[in-house]
Amino acid sequence: MSEQVTIIGAGIVGICCALSLQERGAAVRLIDRGEPGQETSFGNAGVVSPWSVIPQAMPGIWKTIPQMLLNPKSALSVRPSFWPKMVPWGLRFLKQSGEKSVRDISDAMELLCRPSIELYRRHLQNTGQEDLIADSNYIHAFRRPDQADLKALGYLIRQEKGGQLERIDGSELRRIEPALSKDFKAAILIRGQARVTSPGRVGAVLADKARHQGAEFVRAEVTGLNRTEDGQWHIATPQDTLKADTVVLAAGVWSAGLLKPLGLSVPLVAERGYHVQFPTPNMGLENSVMDVDAKIVASSMQDGLRVAGTAEFGSINAPPDPRKQALLTEQALAMMPDLNIADTQFWMGRRPSFPDSLPAIGPIEGQKGLFGAFGHSHYGLMMAPKTGELVADLVSGRRLNIALDPFALSRF
Ligand SMILES: Cc1cc2nc3c(=O)[nH]c(=O)nc-3n(C[C@H](O)[C@H](O)[C@H](O)COP(=O)(O)OP(=O)(O)OC[C@H]3O[C@@H](n4cnc5c(N)ncnc54)[C@H](O)[C@@H]3O)c2cc1C
Repeated sequence: MSEQVTIIGAGIVGICCALSLQERGAAVRLIDRGEPGQETSFGNAGVVSPWSVIPQAMPGIWKTIPQMLLNPKSALSVRPSFWPKMVPWGLRFLKQSGEKSVRDISDAMELLCRPSIELYRRHLQNTGQEDLIADSNYIHAFRRPDQADLKALGYLIRQEKGGQLERIDGSELRRIEPALSKDFKAAILIRGQARVTSPGRVGAVLADKARHQGAEFVRAEVTGLNRTEDGQWHIATPQDTLKADTVVLAAGVWSAGLLKPLGLSVPLVAERGYHVQFPTPNMGLENSVMDVDAKIVASSMQDGLRVAGTAEFGSINAPPDPRKQALLTEQALAMMPDLNIADTQFWMGRRPSFPDSLPAIGPIEGQKGLFGAFGHSHYGLMMAPKTGELVADLVSGRRLNIALDPFALSRF
């Protein structure tokens, strides 16, 4: 393949698309208004898992939502001005929560998640930064032991797909992770995972790799995207109009705004998440650990211990809610009582979320030469490498023997 491909957005998804396209011989140009990998892809919890194949909308979730919305300490909140958008999105979300939908979505998620560790290891090879991905278990820690139930649907599906899960009691949990509170009475251990020890650095290192392999990086804000009568794409920036035959849209949650002028309205929302990071925690974790009650994930990173979570639905540009720092810090201490919380760093990012927890990948109907690679919600770090592979195969015209309908933008 010899053509040039232009990628809008150099988050982890755009970067992985670039690497896979380069492997197939394409010349690649990435456009981003910021540094590669330093937006949403910077602040996540670092979980890379073949077994994160469970969507957000699960059977019975409707019963828990009102309670969560009323509790200011719960992981879920909606900014008041966002309700008009929230209602139709939320109804679509709930419609996907039956067991049949969950199982169908899980199969599609598996396709993207299963090879993620292997693909990251391949991309990081020879960068000198191979240790940015480390073997890990995923530990789901419970205060109420009866809730650590391997027969619950999410755990059942993981096991049916070959995941190795084990239920352990509180003392075994503290043998594995001594820093965890004695309040945790049981846990589910999900084996065979990995964790990224600095998501921002992975983005920067892989972007450098693409650059060394010849990728062009254009630092500019894309203000418009349209196709001219001769079939070329014109990408407007404040400095210039760039031209391209083939465009991959990988602009995370901002992709929806770029599609609007093309007459495409897509249910992609900013599901805002936060992290607090403790640079001198005076303790560490060997694995990614989720406090299932608080719905937060803790992981030791190269630059400290990070605790990430919350699902705050709001407009893309609303400022971060400063109360989340205190809440996450309090929850981190409840999880790890000896944690040193001095010099806490606070961050907010925007998960690009569709109601069915699946991204949009592939040709965008009626827009020849335009491919989608956005909407990875809670799973974008781990789904990025396989997304890159699929996009590169599709752009280079390879025949795929898998159905990509679950990822078609036209499903909405
Ligand atoms: C708190 C939290 C925890 C998470 N934990 C995990 C986890 O453990 N594992 C996991 O797999 N996922 C996790 N995620 C989700 C994951 O981080 C995202 O799905 C992923 O980062 C999305 O990547 P992206 O490349 O699509 O988007 P982004 O990283 O947002 O990249 C989009 C890029 O496009 C650029 N851009 C946008 N619009 C324009 C424009 N008009 N002009 C120029 N450039 C533009 C932006 O500058 C940005 O660099 C988490 C998310 C959050 C918030």
